[in-house]
Parts: sequence; structure tokens; C-alpha cells
Amino acid sequence: MKTVSVTISSIQPLKRILQGVLESKICAWLFDEVWNLRHRRHLPVFSSRPLRSRELTIEVTNICNANCVFCGYQFQARPKGIMPIERFRAIVDNYALIGGGMIELTPVVGEALVDPSLEEKVRYARTRPEIGRISFVTNGILLTRKRFEALAEAGVTHLTLSISGLDREEYERVYRVDRYDIILRNLEDIAASAVFAKVQFALGIRSDTLRAWRRSPALARLRAIGYTNYGGTSFLDNWSGRIQTARLPGFMMIRPQRTKRLPCWMLYNSTTILHDGRMTACGCRDLDGTSELALGHIDQQPLQAPWIDGRMEALRQRFRDGNLPDVCRDCRHYAPAREV
Ligand code: SF4
Ligand code: SF4
Repeated sequence: MKTVSVTISSIQPLKRILQGVLESKICAWLFDEVWNLRHRRHLPVFSSRPLRSRELTIEVTNICNANCVFCGYQFQARPKGIMPIERFRAIVDNYALIGGGMIELTPVVGEALVDPSLEEKVRYARTRPEIGRISFVTNGILLTRKRFEALAEAGVTHLTLSISGLDREEYERVYRVDRYDIILRNLEDIAASAVFAKVQFALGIRSDTLRAWRRSPALARLRAIGYTNYGGTSFLDNWSGRIQTARLPGFMMIRPQRTKRLPCWMLYNSTTILHDGRMTACGCRDLDGTSELALGHIDQQPLQAPWIDGRMEALRQRFRDGNLPDVCRDCRHYAPAREV
């Protein structure tokens, strides 16, 4: 560990310089151009006056069993809990009634597998023919082969396992829990399951080693047993200014600020119901559901109400007018929506 901390502290001055460069206008412009070029073919195009969210995020819990150095979980102030099954069913029924579609179960922060009723919830959603893809991101600590198989049978179609570079020391540095061996064992067991291919499985690698993780023997082993869909990054969000580069280990850095002239695509895509029933327009960065993106409570209004009564459109208009909600100003998770 000593060698690691010496290495990390010795690159901090270099990181400060690099982050300064990333924050410059020219770099932000370049980042925008490269991002747009890279995603051009996949950039979703939205109608400028949609009457419902393209997909629905349901936060089954905001409790996590890790404490990642790059995550907003460490700053969460709201009470922790698990969504009752009755509320989940009512939300799914409402969503199905307005046409259904994709359901995302990744919490704003939290680990979906901490919810012991997760399988039951997925099973219920799958009873509705209007529901398509059901997905979530997990840290994999509780993703045993048994739970994977139960979730696959229940109807989960896509899973992304978020992990650090594939090395125990790095994992403890970044995820700040001692669970690396358990996760690797889970991945081995799951790859041997008869229903492995039933779920589209991806690895999302958050590494503090730039690209060194690509050469790790553990990754070679995972690829050999079937984990061929993976991607990694060392450039992360700052949780609307809460996380600075100096807090991040190794080569982890904050993404550049982007030009925010177009509405963020979260405002078309990401209506989220928090575990306690409060609604927010951004299931990615409205950490406590208390920002200007808050949309009331699902017990007091139907799911589509903020879309029909103009509240969602008013939020999008604030981007067009350059009058961004506070939580969006310094957010590095922003991505522009193309509107027609
Ligand atoms: S990134 Fe995920 S696993 Fe890590 S602390 Fe946040 S919610 Fe938990
Ligand atoms: S800019 Fe950030 S906080 Fe605002 S809607 Fe987009 S992702 Fe959410």
C-alpha cells in the first residue's frame, strides 16, 4: 500500500496541471467536438414537446454497500430506505398504462441488490407486456450466481457491473471496501451459469490507472470466460461540484465542463421515482431530490403529470435560455439532446 500512496501523491501536481488544461475553454470546445463526433450516430433525437419520459428510472433503494471515492453517495443527506413493493407495482401499472417501455433500476446512488425484494419487483414488471428492457448497474458484491439466475428468470435483460481497474489494491482505493475477491468469484460463477447468455452483461471499469487496466491478467481471464463487452474510463463527473480532482486517486480526473446550450438529454429520458416516492427530472445527479429538478410526489400525481402540465418543458427551456438550474451549472454528466 505504501508504494501505491507514494505513487499517487507524486502525480497530484501533474494532475492539477492537467485538470487546469481540461478546464480551459479550448479543451472544453475540443471535448464537445470529439464527444459529438463519437456519439453522432447514437445521439438520441427527441421530439421537442414529448408528453412522457422515454424511459423510467425506479430507485428501489438508496442504500449502498460500497463507498466509491468518485460517487455522490458519500454526500447523500436524505434518509435511506427501500421502496415498498406496493409503490413499485403502482408505478409500473401507471407506466404500462401510458405505453410502458424501458425500466432502469439503477438508483441515483445506492445498490439495487441491497433490496431483498428486487427479484419480486422485476417479476412483477415482467408481467406487464408493455415493459421492454429492464436493466441496472450493480457493483456486483451481492451478485451471486443464485441471484443472477433469479434475476435473469424474473426478466432482467441488461446488467452492467461497475468495478475499478482489475486489481485488489486499486479496488480498495476506489471502491473503499474489501470485496474484490468476492466480485471476481461472482463473475466466474455467473459465467458458468446456463442462463449467462440470457442477460446482456457489460463491465464498466472506473480506473485510476488511465489505460493500464486493459493489460491486466484478470481482464484477460474475464474475457476468456465470456465478458467481452467492457469499457473503462478515468474521467468522471464531479457531482455538481462536490468532487474535485484532488480528492480522486491516481489518474482519475474530472471531465471538462461542456457548453450547455441544448437541454440535457436527462430531461427527455430520465424521469425518476426515488424510493420514498418523490419524483425528479434527473435520476443521475439530483442526489437528494431537493434541487430545482424535483417534480413532486408520485402519490399525489400521475407519472406523466410534469410532462403534460409544462414543468418538464419549463426545465428544458431554462437550458435554451441559458438560465440553468443550479444543480446543472457545474454538472459534468450533461449531454446535449438533439431536438426536432
Ligand atoms: S458508485 Fe455505486 S457502488 Fe459506488 S458508492 Fe456509488 S452507488 Fe455505491
Ligand atoms: S446537467 Fe447534470 S444535473 Fe442537470 S439534468 Fe443533466 S445530468 Fe442532470
